Amino acid sequence: MCAQIADTQKFLGRVARILPDDRIDATETTRQRYGRSTFGNPRVPDAILYPVTTDEVAGIVKAANDTNTAVHAISRGKNWGYGDAGPVERGQVILDLSRMNQVLELNRELAYAVIQPGVSQGQLSQHLAEHAPDLWVDATGAGVDASLVGNTLDHGFGHTRYGDHFLSCCGMEVVLPDGRVIHTGYGHYPNAKSDKVYPYGVGPMLDGLFVQSNMGIVTRINIWLMPKPEDFCSFVFMGHNDHDLEDIVNRLAPLRMQGLLQSAIHIGNDLRIMSARMRYPFDQTQGITPLPEDVRADIRKQGMIGMWNGCGSVSGTKGTVRAVRKELARVLKPYNVRFINDQRLALAERIQKGLAMVGAGGWLGEMLGIFKPVYGLLKGEPSNEHIRGAAWRVRDPEPELPADPLDVHAGIAWLSPVVPNRGEDARQLMNLMEPVYQKHGFDSLVTFTMITERAMICITNISFDKRIPEECQRAQDCYEELMKILMESGFIPYRSGPTGYAKLRLEGDPFWDVVNSIKQTLDPNDTISPGRYVAPLDDKPSTQHRLAG
Ligand SMILES: Cc1cc2nc3c(=O)[nH]c(=O)nc-3n(C[C@H](O)[C@H](O)[C@H](O)COP(=O)(O)OP(=O)(O)OC[C@H]3O[C@@H](n4cnc5c(N)ncnc54)[C@H](O)[C@@H]3O)c2cc1C
Repeated sequence: MCAQIADTQKFLGRVARILPDDRIDATETTRQRYGRSTFGNPRVPDAILYPVTTDEVAGIVKAANDTNTAVHAISRGKNWGYGDAGPVERGQVILDLSRMNQVLELNRELAYAVIQPGVSQGQLSQHLAEHAPDLWVDATGAGVDASLVGNTLDHGFGHTRYGDHFLSCCGMEVVLPDGRVIHTGYGHYPNAKSDKVYPYGVGPMLDGLFVQSNMGIVTRINIWLMPKPEDFCSFVFMGHNDHDLEDIVNRLAPLRMQGLLQSAIHIGNDLRIMSARMRYPFDQTQGITPLPEDVRADIRKQGMIGMWNGCGSVSGTKGTVRAVRKELARVLKPYNVRFINDQRLALAERIQKGLAMVGAGGWLGEMLGIFKPVYGLLKGEPSNEHIRGAAWRVRDPEPELPADPLDVHAGIAWLSPVVPNRGEDARQLMNLMEPVYQKHGFDSLVTFTMITERAMICITNISFDKRIPEECQRAQDCYEELMKILMESGFIPYRSGPTGYAKLRLEGDPFWDVVNSIKQTLDPNDTISPGRYVAPLDDKPSTQHRLAG
């Protein structure tokens, strides 16, 4: 321990030769802020560094390697519910790359951009609106300040046809643990003409090594952008019975498989929709949790919320959009499908304004307020409105403006299993999870997202108030039980935060052994983010998980 402290001091001494004073911060307030956790387990770093060039990052990593200091990179540090900005273990030094925030290149013809880690999705969206209005970025629900690079490196996803972010990434610049800088794909050939348009390059494709791992620090990526389609239309639908879930999935899956539907399609339960619109009605339930059935049914009725509620989008030429709409109208007929495009939205707004002048239209105004950010997201426009949902179980009145979940004590623990695109699998998963949520007093907030032609990601989270220790303990217990059930039933999460990393690694699994060997080769001192997905090199056996039976 003493040796470690001494090393960190030596490290910061070396860093002082690389960065000016105002880009090194070891003050208590800043360290505490970066260590905050939505899961309620703060992991306070020793210091925060703000490099602005790849050379600075490389110099810092070399110094860290020489002094046995662990460093952990963040792009914008908004990884709420999956580890936030903090390192896996307390005491590492954070490299906050948010000041490396340049859009280095924008190619309108081939529809790509080269961006640094600190570029936020709001910034790129704005940049495109100003310089390339014919291109869209894909955005997540994590608000305007979240990054694209960090999100991609945790396998995050958004809502358009380009929703799978790793698939839209075409080459990276990476600082390795020994300070070398490599370019993946064709990027390492100085004269390559196709480095930003052909992802594989030639030889082994290394990009995957830097996603959900700790093998390097990514200092730029080439990201494909979506050409603005000739025509665009969103669709919404709802089913009023719980068993509609299976039918809806089975009706939509063939359209996704045949390529008629290309955007991510979201199917959220009533609780998910409620959490986006309001906070838990503690007054109506006399403090009882989870939400009693009668109150739940009442809110559904008042808010015109289905038991299952879906949305997605269709884009292409006018002809293709018309044809797909027709097919969707047929397939989703029992589920009251509605199509909304720019013209319809503008018309609704005009009607609402007219009604407001005579003191009516409040309901329409409210609905538009809820729907517009969702509609925007389907076109890749980020908004902070979606962040509100994180604070469902916080016992305070909702602030007027959406707030950082960490500022409003929101407890969040995501569990995100991957499910085949089949109704029976979705149902099996619900049957496994719902009793566990119920048992621990939490609401099963669920969204199924058809992310590929063959798979859905089920996004579900334990929502709790972090100020209540007893509730935090229950959230932890609920998480442990859910993770165990998911792993044992084969619904493996696509992503995790620090609390779940070790649970994803199976004892004696050659896959994780090989991952460890690669880590050992690239980073023998475990300099970069020790324990992030990959077992720490010094205590490998204790961090592996054995499945029951
Ligand atoms: C209400 C709400 C809605 C959300 N919606 C979505 C959603 O729609 N889709 C989604 O995917 N997520 C969503 N999230 C989860 C999360 O907030 C986002 O994924 C967010 O983009 C992550 O934060 P970030 O982009 O700032 O990445 P960061 O926090 O900077 O990084 C994410 C991870 O990648 C690592 N990393 C970051 N940069 C680098 C680098 N340059 N080199 C090496 N490693 C690096 C970090 O160590 C960290 O582990 C949501 C969360 C909330 C609370």
